[in-house]
Amino acid sequence: MTDRYAVIGNPVAHSKSPLIHAEFARQTGHDISYGGLLAPLDGFRAAVLGFRDAGGSGLNVTLPFKHEAWRLADRRSERSERARAANTLTFDADGIAGDNTDGVGLVRDIEGNLGFGLSGKRLLVLGAGGAAWGIGLPLLAQGVARLTIANRTVSRAEELRRHLGEFANIVGCGFEDLAGTQFDLVINATSAGLSDEAPAIPKAVFAPGALAYEMVYGRATPFMAFARACGARVADGLGMLVEQAAESFFIWRGVRPETAPVIAKLRSET
Ligand code: NDP
Repeated sequence: MTDRYAVIGNPVAHSKSPLIHAEFARQTGHDISYGGLLAPLDGFRAAVLGFRDAGGSGLNVTLPFKHEAWRLADRRSERSERARAANTLTFDADGIAGDNTDGVGLVRDIEGNLGFGLSGKRLLVLGAGGAAWGIGLPLLAQGVARLTIANRTVSRAEELRRHLGEFANIVGCGFEDLAGTQFDLVINATSAGLSDEAPAIPKAVFAPGALAYEMVYGRATPFMAFARACGARVADGLGMLVEQAAESFFIWRGVRPETAPVIAKLRSET
């Protein structure tokens, strides 16, 4: 019998996850179906349980439900616990298992696909929302020299710094506090690009040879244009999207699909 999966969110029609998982299934010969599930903003729990009770095997979770998914899970992986968010739910006899593959997806894209080693590097994460919470610990685990979290609302950057603080020397600040400091990697984990804005950061944050990583994918954002004009190498979040999906596929199916051909296919279609 075909195992059923889906991505649940609101909105969800734009999601590339069904395409990605269809490619993974074809590549590995697994008999699965994977669709999109639109949940009402106040109806996440009912939609998840309805999908499971109709025979579903697992769900990917996207905006704005990742925190709610974490709360709904009966048991959670450490990386989900640390992120206080789940993007992967698995249904089994013991209930609902929650995991978070966003951070490992980002690390694999940066280190594996882009060939940028994180160890010893000075990192700047812009944003302190769900995405920033998801990537903080996996980045620190790679042995970065310094992690600075800058956010428009400074108190949220400080909250995330406190949450991660037991692991390293981390700074939480506002954008204007970045003047005079340089970074090897600048990750835009804000949603500013979705409204065609760039976070208001100084030009000089990019060290020579810096990588600028935009977590948004499928569009050229003002942050990417700004970083390019500052001389940085620029990447978007498409690789992360495919890598986090591959980790979810591994959790569900026990095999790790090849990501490079899927990234290349999606790139050729945008
Ligand atoms: P949240 O809504 O939780 O957080 C939004 C963040 O963006 C906050 O830090 C907010 O600051 C900041 N922000 C919003 N608008 C602006 C602006 N105009 N200028 C400066 N800062 C701004 O969203 P998420 O953290 O969940 O998602 C962030 C982005 O990451 C989204 O675009 C999402 O698509 C992307 N993403 C990509 C993934 C991938 O696989 N490539 C995976 C997960 C997320 P404040 O606190 O001040 O409001």
